Amino acid sequence: MKTMTCRQLGGPCDFPLHGGTADEVIKAQDRHLNEIVSSGDEAHKNALKEMKGRWKHPISGMGWYKNAKHDFAALPEG
Ligand SMILES: [Zn+2]
Repeated sequence: MKTMTCRQLGGPCDFPLHGGTADEVIKAQDRHLNEIVSSGDEAHKNALKEMKGRWKHPISGMGWYKNAKHDFAALPEG
């Protein structure tokens, strides 16, 4: 289990995201963005838009995805 923050994945806050794989952490960020924006947060709107864009354009989103995986792999376990 590792932890990344919303900010490490391109968001504006330090909300902690937990997961055993980079994909799990990315999914947790996706969920966090959806939840916080639907509760009326403005600061996360751009990050949510970018996240949605990545699912729609997987090729151009690949660089971000590789970075996220790389950052995740570099984290200490625990
Ligand atoms: Zn956040």
